[in-house]
Amino acid sequence: MKIVVTGGAGFLGSHLCGKLLEQGHEVICIDNLLTGSEKNIEEYKSNSNFKFLKQDVSHRFEIESEVDQIYHLASPASPNKNSLKSYHALPFGTMMVNSMGTWQMAEIALAKKAKLFFASTSEVYGDPLEHPQKEEYRGNVSTTGPRSIYDESKRFGETIVAAFVRSRDLDGRIIRIFNTYGPKMALDDGRVVIEFVTAGLAGKPFPVFGDGKQTRSFCYVSDMIDGIIAAMEKGEKGEIYNLGNPQEFTILELAQKIKKITGSVSEVEHVLELPEDDPVRRCPDISKAKKKLDWEPKVSLEEGLKKLVEYLR
Ligand code: NAD
Ligand code: UDP
Repeated sequence: MKIVVTGGAGFLGSHLCGKLLEQGHEVICIDNLLTGSEKNIEEYKSNSNFKFLKQDVSHRFEIESEVDQIYHLASPASPNKNSLKSYHALPFGTMMVNSMGTWQMAEIALAKKAKLFFASTSEVYGDPLEHPQKEEYRGNVSTTGPRSIYDESKRFGETIVAAFVRSRDLDGRIIRIFNTYGPKMALDDGRVVIEFVTAGLAGKPFPVFGDGKQTRSFCYVSDMIDGIIAAMEKGEKGEIYNLGNPQEFTILELAQKIKKITGSVSEVEHVLELPEDDPVRRCPDISKAKKKLDWEPKVSLEEGLKKLVEYLR
């Protein structure tokens, strides 16, 4: 098949391109390198099935060839204000790519009679009042708070896909991705796993925001890529699927695990108040993905962290 991956030079996108090439597909990777890097796709450039197009998908462009599937992953994703790659540093690009970018990829998918996959996020649940989060939960999100740039543009992206499915018969599906980590994540991305692993390896303090009792559920990248492909292949038109690892940990527990695995002298340092609207608890209910996509994560947090540490060393 001929498959487009937007955001293909980013963390998840580059792993997805690699897996699709392994499966023998032709891959067109489209990325404007806003937060991604050509280094992530260097290893694929000698493969004649791989093409890279440097393009901002929020602006009009054409794809000349036939296309069977489009994975739309392009978007900044880090909420860490200290990172230049965060959506706080890139507010307009973030809002554009999740709104106009999604609209455009939906138009292209229709014109090419291709299936569309939209990478949404657990952030559509905001600071959730229900736990764990099921797909039916409508969320607790501020329309104007600091995270709204990302949360509300992803929510609107979902609305766009749903409207194209309902009114124009697009074969689209929406996937809500929960915290995922692994090799090829930018070292200056600012998300918690990469921050703590690099701190642990350098013997620097683990920079904890707030009291560290907030929770997250961390999925290793190979599991997420299997889930993403299962959602495209087995997911139904117009459906929404949560993908993530349902094992829940506090940020302090994460720091302790990373300290042990890196054998580090680093200690926790409470560097900031908990940022405004930072979700206090997050954990996916993945029963729908288990049942409908026949998917569930296999890699434990400890195993995944060991793999990441080995890669970074
Ligand atoms: P990333 O920053 O590593 O990758 C995003 C890629 O999109 C980058 O290569 C970037 O250059 C590209 N991009 C951004 N704007 C673009 C534009 N206008 N045109 C073309 N390319 C553009 O982040 P990631 O973690 O790989 O995230 C990929 C997708 O998954 C994003 O949509 C993100 O919102 C979603 N997601 C990721 C996670 C996670 O934990 N990794 C969680 C929830 C949702
Ligand atoms: N966090 C932290 N130190 C960091 C980065 C993040 O304590 O250096 C916290 C952050 O406040 C949040 C959690 O870790 O509660 C997960 O943050 P991340 O940036 O990975 O993404 P989020 O799940 O908030 O979108």
